[in-house]
Amino acid sequence: MKEFDVIGRYFQDGGYQRKDVVVGIGDDCAVTTVPSNQQLAVTTDTLVGGVHFLENAPARSVAYKAVAVNLSDLAAMGAEPSWISLSLSMSEIDEAWMADFAEGMYDLTRYYSVQLIGGDTVRGPLSMTITAQGFIPAGNELKRSTARPGDWIFVTGSLGDAAAGLAILNNELEVAEGVRDYLVDRHWYPTPRVATGTALRRVASACIDVSDGFISDLGHILRSSGCGANIQVDRLPLSSQLTDTVSLEQAYHYALAGGDDYELIFTVNEEQKGNLDTALASTGVKVTCVGQVTGHTDKLELKCHNKPFEFDGRGYEHQF
Ligand code: ADP
Ligand code: MG
Repeated sequence: MKEFDVIGRYFQDGGYQRKDVVVGIGDDCAVTTVPSNQQLAVTTDTLVGGVHFLENAPARSVAYKAVAVNLSDLAAMGAEPSWISLSLSMSEIDEAWMADFAEGMYDLTRYYSVQLIGGDTVRGPLSMTITAQGFIPAGNELKRSTARPGDWIFVTGSLGDAAAGLAILNNELEVAEGVRDYLVDRHWYPTPRVATGTALRRVASACIDVSDGFISDLGHILRSSGCGANIQVDRLPLSSQLTDTVSLEQAYHYALAGGDDYELIFTVNEEQKGNLDTALASTGVKVTCVGQVTGHTDKLELKCHNKPFEFDGRGYEHQF
């Protein structure tokens, strides 16, 4: 196990240094201070080589994505990220890979003022588990279960790019060079909507991040809120890179069923709708209204230019 001590040392400084970390990496536990009046939000996500990322993916993107998906969960809850821990399983040590990995992780943690406070390093198949923690002012958490009939459904950024990026990497889609980089980067380097999540705390009635696909993740809000929804497919936000590359039909498919976008889907009631622009002004993130919550439990109605839209695709689900 000796060489694995090297890895502990790779992460020794924890990147960004926060004042609320009393004891960081190097002891048996990390010790941190939680501000009074704040709640602690905690989330964990595991990425397994060959399942959640391509085995030949750059180490920098693997690390970036592992952190990003966790920060995205915090964002969807309205939490401001503070600390992460990393449990890393690797079959061998490749120092260049490790250096790239650390860089990808610290790229994001520095940007979001998040400190790596501990972890574990073991020998085994390539996989990583990150636990991320963050703060939410008491009572301000954004849940999935609190959407109500009549609420408007919004989505941040654009949908479907990451799925197209994956199709490119799998040689299922051919594109022009500049567009290729954009779409592949959307797959490898998703942007967690951290600022949007915290800005939505007092405005949104429910929120979730898009990891498995729009339909699948909206479905989680609808099921846990006991509601249905009308979605106008022609209003789904699509990047010009995507619409310039594939047919509109294919773009809708990527947007509805493709995963890994890490955009936020959120609902806003009529009363709060007017506050949305002000709340989000400082984030610079575009949001698009794509439909409305209904009282028809579990019924998702898709329309395109006011005509029923047939769609039998679904989001990504692990098969056991
Ligand atoms: P222990 O045997 O007490 O679990 P370890 O040797 O596993 O200690 O780890 C020593 C220190 O290095 C601990 O503070 C641990 O949190 C940290 N550490 C080990 N691996 C990692 C990692 N992959 N990322 C961040 N910190 C790590
Ligand atoms: Mg250990």
